[in-house]
Amino acid sequence: TGPFDPENRIIFSAGALVGTGAPTAGRTTVSSIAPRGFPEPMWTSSSIGGYWGAELKYAGYDSIVIQGRASSPCYVLIEDDRVSIEDAGDLWGQGVHATQQQLKTRYSDQHQIVVIGPAGENRVRYASIIHRLSNASGNGGFGGVMGSKNLKAIVVRGTRGVKIAHPQEFLQAVADTWEMTKGGLGHIGKVESGYPNVACSHGCSVACYTRILKTSGQIASGAPMRMLKCVNGSMVRGSHHGYQGVSTSGDNLTIPGPPGFNELGLDIGNLLDDLGLTAWCFDTWSRYLGGLRELGIRTILGEPINLEDPLWWRDLLIKIAYREGIGDDMAEDLPRFYEKHGIGPRYMAEFVASKGSRGHGWHRDGRAMERHPSPFWEYSALLYAVSTRDVTPSTHGFFFLNGLYGYPDAPKRTPEILESLQALAEKVYGSREAVLPGDTYIEYVTRWHQHRAIIKDSLGLCDFVFPVVRRNQDSREAMEEALNAGVDEIYGDTAIEAKLFKACTGLDIGIDQMESPIAERIVNLERSLDVRNFGRNRESDEVVIPHYQWGEKTDGTHLSAEASEFRALLDRFYTLRGWDKETGIPTPEKLQSLGLGEERLI
Ligand code: SF4
Repeated sequence: TGPFDPENRIIFSAGALVGTGAPTAGRTTVSSIAPRGFPEPMWTSSSIGGYWGAELKYAGYDSIVIQGRASSPCYVLIEDDRVSIEDAGDLWGQGVHATQQQLKTRYSDQHQIVVIGPAGENRVRYASIIHRLSNASGNGGFGGVMGSKNLKAIVVRGTRGVKIAHPQEFLQAVADTWEMTKGGLGHIGKVESGYPNVACSHGCSVACYTRILKTSGQIASGAPMRMLKCVNGSMVRGSHHGYQGVSTSGDNLTIPGPPGFNELGLDIGNLLDDLGLTAWCFDTWSRYLGGLRELGIRTILGEPINLEDPLWWRDLLIKIAYREGIGDDMAEDLPRFYEKHGIGPRYMAEFVASKGSRGHGWHRDGRAMERHPSPFWEYSALLYAVSTRDVTPSTHGFFFLNGLYGYPDAPKRTPEILESLQALAEKVYGSREAVLPGDTYIEYVTRWHQHRAIIKDSLGLCDFVFPVVRRNQDSREAMEEALNAGVDEIYGDTAIEAKLFKACTGLDIGIDQMESPIAERIVNLERSLDVRNFGRNRESDEVVIPHYQWGEKTDGTHLSAEASEFRALLDRFYTLRGWDKETGIPTPEKLQSLGLGEERLI
């Protein structure tokens, strides 16, 4: 089954805690065969925040499964027990903001909507599904799957609540989580942006990165405001994450960071959402085209490359969304575009492209040049190699530990701080080596975070808070003090998800059991489905190597994941997982031990 075949199902599942007051419990997982997969489409999932999942719960549903294809544009309307398929002839072709406004006017402000834009209608391979201003399921290309079904939107209104089994216990676990994490783990202390902060999802009050800003209005983008998130950084501020160095094959390579447009960058961000394109594609295309220009290539397929002109970007994005001119091939994403046209050197396209993502989206679009230190770099590479979805949301937990010492602007690195962090690593991962440069313990860290990501997604929680690997503090000074005081002052509570779940549902499932066999079973099931249906194996895992295998950069940041070392790390990971070392496929014994032996998976 291909991603655009009517038989392909697209499934929306609200997490188990969604709709309750559990911190950040607003996320819905979307899964399907992903158009963006390369070289072949592959099953993947991504999650979307906001208020739609909670509304689905209030209407009485945990999941909805959509299969088939309507004969003409339609939308699904769910109002408690009433479900209908409505004509969307008047909405087809409209942007996501106008579509939502019309549907809200037709029904009510309380109706929550997921919607696609022209990019999804035209099956752009990186078309997103959008909710509100810019909550997005962006990286699998699922907007195109909805478009292929002639499905413009799903509108939901529910009037029931979600029952809490033990309210007092639940409120205590909620309060404990907020107390430990303060404004989420993405920052130390409060985010002082100077702009009004907003929480992006149901159940969240922290407003980590998310802010509301006015757009300039110079580029029609369907909305006067923008919810600013990390993905907007390069459009607004530009990015210092350029790359200048030498590839492992000895080629000189210069890739500038994307240009920034200040407030006009907000308009471009809104335009991307309004068209229903994943906002990350801005980074991919700007770095690839910028790299070409460094090589003296100033036009592409007859089009001038004017990266610094926001109006040029506006026109290009519209061409992509409507598949006009050069936009038709660019709508196929960079790996396919490069295979067809071969413009510029292959090593550059591989460095920038989302090729390493295969079937799942690539949150690192064009970001190989970032300055992540070891061991985060090796961990990130391994997680991308072996996972079935965009893994950046799964990397954050380890990043929040690494971020305490591995970066130039981290708290000062003293022996006391290193001692605390190593003790914390031992408590969370089982070894002090987990936070030391190198990859000696990285297979264990990776397995742990894979399981924790499954738990987080299954409950509908956000990776900027869960898993709570450490406490947060109100200021950098307080954080340094806590780090100096020792592990008890910085350890968070990695079992808090189980406490929330038990208080909410009354089901006593401990965190150990959630990790294994439950999350382990899900990891193996997803892996096995990709093996059986799409030929996933060790060879496809190793596709990430060109993206991660680069020598010393001129800014001195060491990027490791040297190929032979990385292959040895893969060997160790497969062995730990009970997967065949030669093929990367789960062994029959492993599947049997997880109760998956009867399912004819492989
Ligand atoms: S922590 Fe940040 S990203 Fe997560 S739900 Fe809250 S506002 Fe959104």
